[in-house]
Amino acid sequence: MPCAPTPPRPASAVGSPRFGPAERLAALDGMAGRPLDLLVVGGGITGCGLARDAALRGLSVGLVERDDFGSGTSSRSSKLVHGGVRYLAYGDVALVRESAHERRVLAAIAPHLVHPLAFVFPLFRGDSRAKLRIGFTMFDRLAGSPPGQRHRVLAADEVRQRVPGLREPLAGGFLFTEYITDDARLTLENAISAFEHGALVANHAAAVSFPVEGGRLAGARVRDELSGEVREVRAAVVVNATGPWAEETIALGDTPAPKHVLPSKGIHLLFRADRLPLEGAVALRSPSGREGFAIRRRDHVYVGTSDVVHRGPLGGPVADREAFDDVLGMARDCFPTLGLGEADVAATWAGLRPLIAEEGKSPRDTSRHDEVWRSPEGLLSIVGGKLTTYRRMGERVMEQVGRELGRDLGPGTGPGAERDPGSGAQAEAGAGASAGPSAVGGTADVPLPGARLGGRSLDAFRSETVASLRGRGVAPGAADRIAWLYGGAAEDLLRLGDEDPGWLAPLAPGSDALRGEVRLAVERGMALALADILDRRTGLLLFGSDRGLAEAPAAAEIAGRLLGWDDATRQAQLDAFRALSAQHGVPGPTG
Ligand SMILES: Cc1cc2nc3c(=O)[nH]c(=O)nc-3n(C[C@H](O)[C@H](O)[C@H](O)COP(=O)(O)OP(=O)(O)OC[C@H]3O[C@@H](n4cnc5c(N)ncnc54)[C@H](O)[C@@H]3O)c2cc1C
Repeated sequence: MPCAPTPPRPASAVGSPRFGPAERLAALDGMAGRPLDLLVVGGGITGCGLARDAALRGLSVGLVERDDFGSGTSSRSSKLVHGGVRYLAYGDVALVRESAHERRVLAAIAPHLVHPLAFVFPLFRGDSRAKLRIGFTMFDRLAGSPPGQRHRVLAADEVRQRVPGLREPLAGGFLFTEYITDDARLTLENAISAFEHGALVANHAAAVSFPVEGGRLAGARVRDELSGEVREVRAAVVVNATGPWAEETIALGDTPAPKHVLPSKGIHLLFRADRLPLEGAVALRSPSGREGFAIRRRDHVYVGTSDVVHRGPLGGPVADREAFDDVLGMARDCFPTLGLGEADVAATWAGLRPLIAEEGKSPRDTSRHDEVWRSPEGLLSIVGGKLTTYRRMGERVMEQVGRELGRDLGPGTGPGAERDPGSGAQAEAGAGASAGPSAVGGTADVPLPGARLGGRSLDAFRSETVASLRGRGVAPGAADRIAWLYGGAAEDLLRLGDEDPGWLAPLAPGSDALRGEVRLAVERGMALALADILDRRTGLLLFGSDRGLAEAPAAAEIAGRLLGWDDATRQAQLDAFRALSAQHGVPGPTG
């Protein structure tokens, strides 16, 4: 018999709760100590979002992630929370409607993380304006775009101003709004929120087998990837949310997957914004018809992407030479006067889309929809989907979980549901969190932890945070970066600075990252490896000045002290991170 859920932890008014190595071990022991309603396997956006949903509905839930939260595809996306205007071309109105709805919900529950992005769609001489106009009008209608965010027509000169260096002959364009996020942080904040609402959450812990009793899945054996210890976790329902690994995870059980996952690789190239000076984002189309985009994120611009079937191991995909040449070639063709070359590429990354294979379709033409598969023993697998729609995917899984448990788990909050989406989302969650899981609202109502801003507007919070950091001697670039990335968790950093100003010193001379960020990552972000810190907690691997190499020694030294690493472990962590950093540069001639 599954027992009562863990009571929610009182959330701090601003900032994040303690969520570190001690909480991880307590979670693993807690999972082994009593049967759960639900065990979620996989800590990407899908699994973390699902665990949060289940915890908010009052279920006893565990989540295990083999590596780190977001270490799979969920830190390697294009980082857009987007309506998917391009899917209109495939007639996928339902996906556009749902994605557009989710943009609004996520912008409401995570305004600190889901930032509006002005997107330019340029027109070249000879392009048909009328068809696109109909498409954008339809998109606005489906998206329910507020007046300030509806598309508008741009003259050619306005396009030139917003996108300097774009190829000619320009004939004008359209301006519309999408949103940019930090995918790894969005994933982490879902994990933290799940934990705050009672879920038992552990990274570096893998499901290694699925015991079956009386023809039904009884839970999972979970291996602590740090100690090697294996624990038996009993759960009434197990959900496989392992994205590209979904088929491999199904293979841990007794029956094969009903369909195939098609891992489709996409890569991105990062440039400094002074080499590709773009505000917002632009849809790219080369003279040969190769399509892509360029997106500004603070002082960088990234260009993507590819969509090619990936064969081979699923772990750690990197930008290969062929895809690199293809995307760089497109960027050069689209910005012919900028003289972009290999030497301008500051970083690269690659991810695998967990698409559901469709007979005879290329990855690009394959739908981004999601499905829940059920094995005869009762393993549920959530496959497909997008970052943008993770919350609705969680709701769909919960409907199936409710059926498995024979319980009504309450309504969802997607399009067509009775509740007004995002209606309560502006409220501060801290006050509600101690009232009990069923009293706090659903995933569309409860803000993510970083959205707790102590009753201040985001703009006020940001400017106060920047001013406070500047007042404590933090450089302007670092102060801006912290206010942009952490939302309310920036308060945790300020508190560390009050304790000891040394925490606000840079991690390396001239770096925009601060020593205290490592402590936050470990104690409030469950980071247990150097890569967890420098890649997914601080973003330095992809967006730092030299892919995190300058900051690595100090970060290893601080993390080593907090996590009890001996010299050999610290060196091994550094070596592993340096190898990872090298893989995120320009690929070799045959790489
Ligand atoms: C190039 C690219 C660009 C994209 N851009 C966008 C975009 O801009 N907007 C958008 O909405 N979507 C985008 N997507 C899609 C989106 O990123 C994915 O749909 C989403 O991140 C998938 O999340 P997931 O949680 O299902 O999978 P993952 O993030 O891969 O998570 C699965 C997790 O399961 C873990 N795992 C595997 N096996 C086990 C086990 N046995 N035990 C425990 N854990 C295990 C893995 O370590 C991994 O962390 C993009 C995808 C790609 C590849």
